[in-house]
Amino acid sequence: MGRCDSVMDHYEVVIVGAGPAGCSAALTAACSMEPLAQAHEGAGSGRVLLLEKQPEIGLPVQCAEYVPVQLRRCVPWSPEVVGQEIRVMRTHLPDGEVVETAAAGYVIHRDRFDQGLAAAARRAGAEIRVDTRALELTDEGLLGRQGRREFEIGAQIIVGADGPHSTVRTWMEALDGEGVSAASDPPGLTVTQSEPSGARSSSHIRPQGVRETFGGDLMMGAAQCRVHLRRPVEATQIYFDPLYVGGYGWVFPKGEVANVGVGVCSAGPGPTPVEALDHLLDRVEIRPSDVIGHSGGTIPCGGPPPHTCGARIILVGDAAGQTHPITGGGVANACLCGQMAGRAAASAAVCGSPDPLEQYEREWRGYLGGVLAHAVTKRRMLSRGWTQNAIALSALVRQTWVAFPDYGRRTGSSRL
Ligand SMILES: Cc1cc2nc3c(=O)[nH]c(=O)nc-3n(C[C@H](O)[C@H](O)[C@H](O)COP(=O)(O)OP(=O)(O)OC[C@H]3O[C@@H](n4cnc5c(N)ncnc54)[C@H](O)[C@@H]3O)c2cc1C
Repeated sequence: MGRCDSVMDHYEVVIVGAGPAGCSAALTAACSMEPLAQAHEGAGSGRVLLLEKQPEIGLPVQCAEYVPVQLRRCVPWSPEVVGQEIRVMRTHLPDGEVVETAAAGYVIHRDRFDQGLAAAARRAGAEIRVDTRALELTDEGLLGRQGRREFEIGAQIIVGADGPHSTVRTWMEALDGEGVSAASDPPGLTVTQSEPSGARSSSHIRPQGVRETFGGDLMMGAAQCRVHLRRPVEATQIYFDPLYVGGYGWVFPKGEVANVGVGVCSAGPGPTPVEALDHLLDRVEIRPSDVIGHSGGTIPCGGPPPHTCGARIILVGDAAGQTHPITGGGVANACLCGQMAGRAAASAAVCGSPDPLEQYEREWRGYLGGVLAHAVTKRRMLSRGWTQNAIALSALVRQTWVAFPDYGRRTGSSRL
């Protein structure tokens, strides 16, 4: 057992990361186990384990919290999850034009949303261990750590739902022979925030926009703060500015507060996300005294890697690059693909065959592959064509941002 301190527990499915992808996968895997076991004689005990490195699920919130209205039909959530209903998105272009588009959705309380999904997974039979970090892949499962205690967990199938800096993805790539070194939290800045529940939490943000390998592509560095609003805001607001290189700013209202942030997608010169956020706060006239807390994070915007499925590992959510490369929205895709991943993992564990894992890869790419491939093409156009000229940048944004009819126009395509 190597470095472990205790007797190994064995699970059919172990899911790493309790964000929307991992909680959805755990819920679906737990729900799938009983009917699958009944249909397959000699199937194991059907145990599902969800691991989360943070002490509390859903915290810190590293999200602007907008989700499309359709998500409500696909995942269980209680009315307390909704912070504000949204009908319209207002896009502000560098040349001064403001465009309104229909964007039915909600700004949600992400902490309550994730916690609600986790509670549903627990009720369905999944075991959840917080404050537990997945460290290494082992022959029989993985090595976990809780506090100073390290222990091995037996796992037939592992689901990597561990976000943009996925450790599980590096295991899969290493098994694939790509030889990627182990992931660790990126260097950056730790900031704290207070949640409506009264809990204080810390989060880690990168000080500048980054360009790094992810399926051969890009990551967006984002800085965000929660602010008090002096008057209600009914629409989500999107701001393009030459300074927010490769990205955009947002103000997403949630009753008396709003999430204000900027994502930057560049390794070149230019303001860091934190500097860009200061610029946006000035622009929208938010006073320092109205800032409640800071957060931020990394958004994969290069699309998925070539493989999200191995012999006993699958990836889902941000770990699988299922986030929209232009908007950075990833919650809905994480939930829907999480359901597919949970079903596939349970099925592969019970049947003792990797076929359902390959089916997962086909299923989610069949559903999302075309949308993501198109968005990757637009992302490349936006990143390569970025300019400090406000008129030219506005023309480029009209071609590449989801609010404009030209976004739908094909400019070449690739299959993902
Ligand atoms: C600033 C910002 C704003 C955003 N705004 C929006 C938005 O408005 N709407 C939207 O749809 N999307 C938004 N996104 C993207 C969205 O947050 C993600 O796409 C979504 O959270 C992906 O869900 P996930 O479950 O894949 O990953 P995460 O939500 O990142 O969950 C991964 C979990 O894995 C845990 N973990 C990581 N490593 C380990 C380990 N080794 N062991 C155990 N646990 C581990 C982490 O603690 C985390 O809880 C935003 C992202 C950022 C950074």
